[in-house]
Amino acid sequence: MSIFEDVILNARSAMDAVGKKAGQVIDISKLKLATVDLKSELAQKFQILGNVVYEEKITGKDFTKNKNELIEKITELKAQLDSINDIIANNSQKVKCPVCGTYNAKNSVFCNKCGEKIETEEASHMSTDDMIDFTEDNFDDDDLI
Ligand SMILES: [Zn+2]
Repeated sequence: MSIFEDVILNARSAMDAVGKKAGQVIDISKLKLATVDLKSELAQKFQILGNVVYEEKITGKDFTKNKNELIEKITELKAQLDSINDIIANNSQKVKCPVCGTYNAKNSVFCNKCGEKIETEEASHMSTDDMIDFTEDNFDDDDLI
């Protein structure tokens, strides 16, 4: 099952690409490239997961371990994507909606998506709770190539 190992190695290199977030200067364009990488990585994993589910059904074999590895990796990638998006937003002076997690322009009063009131002064803190809130939002971003 070397294909699964390949996928995991790819994910790790994507993580290394953004591992320098503690540095003084954050290169937003690099971070955005990293999100594109992560999104394609995620799409790839979802596709593999779909194939595994299909094969399992067709062949009657048990691919639970493979599925669990993939799901774990997908979860990790989504968390990475979220944190990169947080960093980008914080450095683009955007504000994150406390309810739905949508990024709005700096001086927004209400969220574009859900209408929640936005406290612009609180824009800079990052919420780790959001990392487990996985929605389709990660995949419909308009910066996807
Ligand atoms: Zn919202």
